[in-house]
Amino acid sequence: MDTDVVISGAGPTGLLLGSELALAGVRVRILERQSARHGQSRALTLHPRSIEILELRGLADRFLAEGRTVPSWHFAGLSRELDFSALDTRHGYTLFLEQARTEELLEERARELGVEIVYGHEVVSLKQDDDGVEVVGTGPDGDFRLRAAYVVGCDGGRSKVRESAGIGFPGSDGTMSSMLGDFAVVDQEEIAAAGRGPVLVAPLSGGLTRLVVTSPRRMRVPATEPVSFEEFRETLVELTGTSFGIAEPRWLSRFGNATRLAENYRSGRVFLAGDAAHIHFPAAGQGLNTGLQDAMNLGWKLAAEINGWATAGLLDTYHAERFPIGQLVTDNTQAQTLLLELTLVPDYQRPVAALRGLLDSLLEIPEVNARLAGLVSALSTSYPAPDSDPLVGTRTLDPESANLVRSGTFGYLGDGAAQVAEGWKDRITAADAKPANLGEALVRPDGHLAWVRRETDPPDPALREAAITAWAGEARR
Ligand SMILES: Cc1cc2nc3c(=O)[nH]c(=O)nc-3n(C[C@H](O)[C@H](O)[C@H](O)COP(=O)(O)OP(=O)(O)OC[C@H]3O[C@@H](n4cnc5c(N)ncnc54)[C@H](O)[C@@H]3O)c2cc1C
Repeated sequence: MDTDVVISGAGPTGLLLGSELALAGVRVRILERQSARHGQSRALTLHPRSIEILELRGLADRFLAEGRTVPSWHFAGLSRELDFSALDTRHGYTLFLEQARTEELLEERARELGVEIVYGHEVVSLKQDDDGVEVVGTGPDGDFRLRAAYVVGCDGGRSKVRESAGIGFPGSDGTMSSMLGDFAVVDQEEIAAAGRGPVLVAPLSGGLTRLVVTSPRRMRVPATEPVSFEEFRETLVELTGTSFGIAEPRWLSRFGNATRLAENYRSGRVFLAGDAAHIHFPAAGQGLNTGLQDAMNLGWKLAAEINGWATAGLLDTYHAERFPIGQLVTDNTQAQTLLLELTLVPDYQRPVAALRGLLDSLLEIPEVNARLAGLVSALSTSYPAPDSDPLVGTRTLDPESANLVRSGTFGYLGDGAAQVAEGWKDRITAADAKPANLGEALVRPDGHLAWVRRETDPPDPALREAAITAWAGEARR
């Protein structure tokens, strides 16, 4: 075997996954098609759960030091925003940080942990057998082959890994597209005068300004068609009466609402994560964030399998847990996009305005607002287990138990710490302290609760052992 895991794609998902595997001592090589980072940023935001998972690994400060936080976020462009600050988290905001910088910070971390990242190497196909996967690729020195125990496709919406593994990607082609442009020169006064109109404006680093437009006249143009400066300028004039003084475009691009979800996130020794598993319109900014959660869910499970202690079926829980989240994201983005699309159809303008008014009034109800904020922020993501305490599968809210998983182990808090340390010290970091509002808690490496004992239930060493064994495997005595 050349390495334990080959990851195809050094985007945000592949980079975080690489770190998660390396943290557990797994040998990992990331193959990236591009010869160097291109520096362009599709995504601009990291939502609350992403900040929380970075914090679980002691990384949040690196990201927070560079971005700007905002306490609320939009849904479908409705006037009434989602209030992240009201959510039960220490990070009730979205962090504005350009994707290019997020990737640099994730790469820095991956390299610190010894992940091998090889640029200019494209995965072309793969073939798996009972013992491993053979990856065929092409690089600066010609074609290459390498063998790994597992392969993960983090290679975006057109994933070669997904295609080679024969995993279906059902869904729909886009019905609408938007344009984005990053400009070195804009007239800030004209932008300020236009206020909150049909053009989305975001300041970027390096003095650039991002403009995003969706025009009734151009929205049926396929997302694959390039954008010209003239088209962008004309569209701005058509929508606002002014061109905003744009000049010196640095990046022009079109993106659409094609929506697809991999029918399985796993095929034998091959896994998919991030955009390779799900694509959708970037409504409310969820794609990158969802990819990070995929990586966080898969990393420790794959590492457990390679390190020889995974319980039967643990690897299959990756699809079981993350596919439903993919469904939630592709559903909510389609709902949001429909509203945007209808807003642009002249005949529907009155009824859509009425619908928007109605939805805005619903978002004034705190419970409704919190429901959608929980969805978009991913704080409501839970992996419930049948016949278990309702807390099982939710993220831990106890900072002390969250601290225990920093090195990628499980965390245990409670008075059975001595028993836990004796049997599972290679897999569980245990502390003899009471978790907030609970008797005992076992936290998974991704920060979700694996098992809890309520304060009102008496401690039971046999029950504790059974619960821990179900997740972390047999004790080593
Ligand atoms: C306009 C726009 C705005 C967005 N805004 C947001 C936002 O605010 N928040 C958010 O969460 N998401 C947003 N997204 C979505 C976000 O950009 C993606 O979801 C995210 O980039 C997915 O990360 P990834 O690592 O899974 O895939 P990618 O970022 O696509 O990375 C895949 C990597 O794999 C490489 N690769 C591809 N094929 C191969 C191959 N065969 N071999 C080797 N390497 C390969 C690629 O070069 C690339 O580096 C936005 C998207 C768009 C279009």
